[in-house]
Amino acid sequence: MPATISAAADIPRRGRRQRRRGFYAHQMSSAAPPPGVAIADARLEEVSDRIFAYVQPDGSWWINNTGFLAGRRGVVSVDACSTERRTRAYLDAIASVTSQPVRTLINTHHHGDHTFGNCLFAGATIVAHERCREEMLDFGPPGRFPFWTEVDWGAVELEPPFLTYESAVRVYVDDLACEVRHVGTPAHTTNDSVVWIPDRSLLFSGDLLFRGGTPFLLMGSVAGAIGVLEELKRLPATTIVPGHGAVSGPGLIDDVLGYLLFVTGAAAAAKAAGLSPLDAARELDLGPYADLLDPERIVGNLHRAYAEIDGAAPGARIDVAAALTDMVAYNGGRPLSCYA
Ligand SMILES: [Zn+2]
Repeated sequence: MPATISAAADIPRRGRRQRRRGFYAHQMSSAAPPPGVAIADARLEEVSDRIFAYVQPDGSWWINNTGFLAGRRGVVSVDACSTERRTRAYLDAIASVTSQPVRTLINTHHHGDHTFGNCLFAGATIVAHERCREEMLDFGPPGRFPFWTEVDWGAVELEPPFLTYESAVRVYVDDLACEVRHVGTPAHTTNDSVVWIPDRSLLFSGDLLFRGGTPFLLMGSVAGAIGVLEELKRLPATTIVPGHGAVSGPGLIDDVLGYLLFVTGAAAAAKAAGLSPLDAARELDLGPYADLLDPERIVGNLHRAYAEIDGAAPGARIDVAAALTDMVAYNGGRPLSCYA
């Protein structure tokens, strides 16, 4: 997902060099990925007639979910994957159920785990919110991101959406209407959209929802996300494909809301006590959220919540590199695990 190259470049030279050393040391000593995160572990689930979720375990950093609708004359895909290998495996999964080409690719938001593979959807119209395009161009192509363990991205290049909307657009798969809606406020990022298929009571939520992983608001808004999830609860969704983690029912919304309210309360108390976001996170008992993947996201979430207590508008630019540096510190000085 996160971290901009330009943000990394802003870090003082000494800090950067120190972290690089830690980065290489980790590379040399790092063990194999844990079981259950290989590309072969990804599974295709038909969540409604001719609508599929492609779920990639374990849903940790840069390992996202996608999905697609297989129409008679073409496929609509919701998101790409992060690396060339993962995106090609996803395209193979699509080809296993239909010989039709992907004609439309929707990006739920700009994060690279959902968009770096865009370039491999040859001939597809790539659709997203206007701000998604802007943020992708601002972020740039995949490269070496010092906050994460090294990733082999493969042959991927930046391919931003080139058909954009401001609030919503409707895509038809044969006669089935799919509502692609910007959520109206920064939440997970500045440019989140959901894909709502009313006739099937089916929601592709993008990264507004994680299952089994820690929600991440550093680049969006904690308060905004709470409002958006309250709105999503009004949809009569029976099936939800989250941005990461297993396919779920509507109860997932309350699970994530619970975490966001926990962050809000923790931020208010710790800020009043004069703690930095990093110290606040270190003292915080994550309680029921301790077993979620990537728990260090609490630090970034507190950075965002602190900014909002100080009056920052939802999605306002804050020092993302400083927050990611704190997340690495919380993680014992090790780069964040990426098995993409
Ligand atoms: Zn994301």
